[in-house]
Amino acid sequence: MSIREIITVPDEILKRVSKPIEKVGESEKKLIKDLFETMYSAKGIGLAAVQVGILKRVLVVDVSLKEEKKKPMCFINPTIRKLSDEMAVYEEGCLSIPDTFIEIQRPKICEIEYVDIDGRTQIKEFDGLLSTCVQHEINHLDGKLIIDYLSKLKRDIVIKKISKIKKNPDRILV
Ligand code: ZN
Repeated sequence: MSIREIITVPDEILKRVSKPIEKVGESEKKLIKDLFETMYSAKGIGLAAVQVGILKRVLVVDVSLKEEKKKPMCFINPTIRKLSDEMAVYEEGCLSIPDTFIEIQRPKICEIEYVDIDGRTQIKEFDGLLSTCVQHEINHLDGKLIIDYLSKLKRDIVIKKISKIKKNPDRILV
């Protein structure tokens, strides 16, 4: 296993649409392990393959609390089958957009069809934080970021701010 580098905006790869996985083989399983390790080390609760530069439709999620036992979940080729009319709001951050949190309203419940790590098709319903997290990650597979929920003007401001942070090599986080 290895921790991979997380790609951040304004890298254009984040806007691309990821391709379905045809077979869950050894290299896909290794990628999934790396995604979990990278996500845990970055203290995120979800990560899509495109965020480490791999344009494949796979994502990992773990919304368990720190005190709880880990609940790793992996979704291959996920598609949304149903969305509730009822909405939920969370302040969402993204490992690919440093230091930015945006309040986003999404359907509270979603039903997802996906393939699990053993290659079996699953259909499951998710609610609350898990639902929001899975929808956020599926957006990544389609090249959509949380800043795309903002107006163009606000989006440009966020990207400008992040570009500035990246240009300053002396800045450290302690
Ligand atoms: Zn994200």
